[in-house]
Amino acid sequence: MSDLEAGQFSIDELENVQITIGKIVGAVEKKATEEGVEVGPTPKPGISTLRDWDYKLLSRYQPVYTPICDQCCYCTFGTCDLGGNKEGACGINMEAHQAREFLLRVITGAAAHAGHGRHILHHLIDVHGRDHPIDVGPSNLLAPNTQAVTGIKPETLGDLEEVMDYVEEQLTQLLATIHAGQEGAAMDFESKVMHGGMLDHVGMEVSDIAQISCLGMPKSDPEAPLAEIGMGCIDADKPVLLVIGHNVAGVTYMIDYIQEHGLEDKMELAGLCCTAIDMTRYQMDQGGKPHAKIVGSLAKELKMIRSGVPDVIVVDEQCVRADVLDEASKLSIPVITCNDKIMYGLPNRTNDSAAEIIEDLSTLKAEGALILDFDLLAEVSVELALKMSKIRDEMGITALLGEEELQELSAKCVQCGACELDCPDNLPIMEAMKAGADKDFTRFEYLHDKCIACGRCDQACPKDIPILNMIEKASQKLIREEKGLMRAGRGQVSDPEIREEGVNLVLGTTPGIVAMVGCSNYPDGTKDLYDVADEMLKRNYIVVMSGCSAMDLGMYKNEDGETLYEKYPAKFLAGNLINVGSCVSNAHITGTAIKVAAIFAQRQVSGNYEEIADYITNRIGAVGVAWGAYSQKASSIATGCNRLGIPVVVGPHGSKYRRALIGKPYKEEDWKVYDARDGSEMPIPAAPEFLLTTADTIEELLPMLAKSCIRPSDNNMGRMIKLTHYMELSQKYLGHMPEDWYKFVRTETDLPLAKREQLLKILEAEHGWEIDWKRKKILSGPTMKLDVSAQPTNVKRLCKEGC
Ligand code: SF4
Ligand code: SF4
Ligand code: SF4
Repeated sequence: MSDLEAGQFSIDELENVQITIGKIVGAVEKKATEEGVEVGPTPKPGISTLRDWDYKLLSRYQPVYTPICDQCCYCTFGTCDLGGNKEGACGINMEAHQAREFLLRVITGAAAHAGHGRHILHHLIDVHGRDHPIDVGPSNLLAPNTQAVTGIKPETLGDLEEVMDYVEEQLTQLLATIHAGQEGAAMDFESKVMHGGMLDHVGMEVSDIAQISCLGMPKSDPEAPLAEIGMGCIDADKPVLLVIGHNVAGVTYMIDYIQEHGLEDKMELAGLCCTAIDMTRYQMDQGGKPHAKIVGSLAKELKMIRSGVPDVIVVDEQCVRADVLDEASKLSIPVITCNDKIMYGLPNRTNDSAAEIIEDLSTLKAEGALILDFDLLAEVSVELALKMSKIRDEMGITALLGEEELQELSAKCVQCGACELDCPDNLPIMEAMKAGADKDFTRFEYLHDKCIACGRCDQACPKDIPILNMIEKASQKLIREEKGLMRAGRGQVSDPEIREEGVNLVLGTTPGIVAMVGCSNYPDGTKDLYDVADEMLKRNYIVVMSGCSAMDLGMYKNEDGETLYEKYPAKFLAGNLINVGSCVSNAHITGTAIKVAAIFAQRQVSGNYEEIADYITNRIGAVGVAWGAYSQKASSIATGCNRLGIPVVVGPHGSKYRRALIGKPYKEEDWKVYDARDGSEMPIPAAPEFLLTTADTIEELLPMLAKSCIRPSDNNMGRMIKLTHYMELSQKYLGHMPEDWYKFVRTETDLPLAKREQLLKILEAEHGWEIDWKRKKILSGPTMKLDVSAQPTNVKRLCKEGC
């Protein structure tokens, strides 16, 4: 049987019997072997395949649950009170249920990406055919996550279908475990969580490499063009077509239509959220000016709609507000949905003519339409925007309040505090109302950047004061100045870049990769991102951006009027700032780490996930930051990093995910690995100290980032550089030396050069280390030795035979 491939064959003796072979177990190994790719022990792992690896990680980084709710209402036995770790009627306890809740989040996020991936893959195969080659730039390792997980080395769009089949099958199996009466152990739910996170990165990778290959997106391009971003970039005098969501397939047809009809200068095509990022990547592989402008991250959705600027809104999928239709119809903005994940109860007009649909929407007979055909979508949305612009002008629609109204509304406030109580960031709304009653509107301006435009305050106000509209009205001057630049998503880090920078990363002389990803549920406005990125870039970290964070970073300029995208180059090198792209491009961040193991360290990648993860855990200084994490996708992205040993810090709202993975640095036995040279145990530093945790402020975050990039394999120069940043950032932002700095010192050469003598004195006086003052050397004290040829591993089977 093992020689058989998918196909048909007949058995001579049995007349009229024909057996059709679909997929044969073992086919992956065969395909890879034919192509000269060796396949490791775990191609297409099932739920239990990598359980041992997960248990290793989870024994060092134990789950910490912070339930918000003590109850479970999953089935009709319940509602069950699980408070005090009581068992529910089905026998599940609080810990296991919390882990199950987290699993649900992670697989929901993974399904959102996989659903996106499957959708866009179907579409691109329809248009370009199964044999269309994958082309992501100057790389041989085209799909690192896919290859490490499935063992498949995809070369064409058709190959990606098999990858998606695998991801979908596994996600279905994971979803099945959420059902009442399945898994009972928190740890095994956690292992499933890890599995879901890993699958997420495969689904994201498929989405992005398919679209990069077919839609002319930049291919590992450090010179990817700069796209305009900000509400102030949108020329409201022109017809404005606004797109919200994540799936760029339909938008590419709009861009084509606009180009074919010479409308580029006659209207504005603008985007919100990841669709916006991908719009500015379309057809940019040869450079040029992006065809669309970016309004901003998802926190700008309601602000943009309420501004009344859009003439037509098109939504596709993910992170789109559920009230877009209601909000838009108040301002006579027709809404078109073009993806069956969001249909808003609208009639399906896919089989109607463009003229009929435009007539119904422009006369406001209908609020919106569902259109699932992209050619029709393009014609209707563009022509309708041109028409609606005039109609809405003639109707004299003004979304903005007048100055007088602003004062009157402020005076209506009874200072009850309901709005502040409901505001997720407890913003000082009452203060703004008080000042507003005296015609001072500056406090509303202050709220503008910090407000994530959720609209909860409006709902809470007993006086029906439109608080969000007031903030926006008072901030018009600021909004007009909101003009930034974002470098269009460049896609993967290329193989040649890995060859150049891999060694520096592994030795630590490039202090680490700081990946700033995720949504815009920031605790204190968008400026934090800029400050964190700038600080780490100045210190020569490689800063990698994606999604809403990539957009918000471009909104700020320095004193020379430059955004960070202009200030810092965009290669994969120390001190460079890279935007990989939209949310699905996050796969290139984990992909980069896998590539370092595969290309720089020559580790076998195909179907060899555990070894690759082990390599990354011990050697690649990388940390993720999802400062405004809000979505389920953010939890799956973070978990996909975690299974590779990459730690992630979320902002304070991330605590609402209710589960962290935190190590115990004081427990020496947790911080030991094997030396693969002889299988002996060796101690490692307690870094990273966690896999998933929360920071409350950027002051707390910055030293944490530096510390999280320390790895066992740092050479003395690398450790010295990393320790310098850790100590300096701690002093600068927290006002004191970190308490544990000495724990990362193996020899005097690990100490920051400029402070060596002073630090040696502290080691002697406070920690009792023995110092040879003549030679300024440490004689005794450190618990770890510096041994540059040590081979740290968590996996016993990777140790040399005979040990
Ligand atoms: S799943 Fe278990 S804990 Fe939850 S409601 Fe049903 S019986 Fe109660
Ligand atoms: S809209 Fe803004 S001010 Fe109102 S509750 Fe939401 S974040 Fe707070
Ligand atoms: S809820 Fe309304 S009335 Fe109460 S403090 Fe807020 S704005 Fe004023």
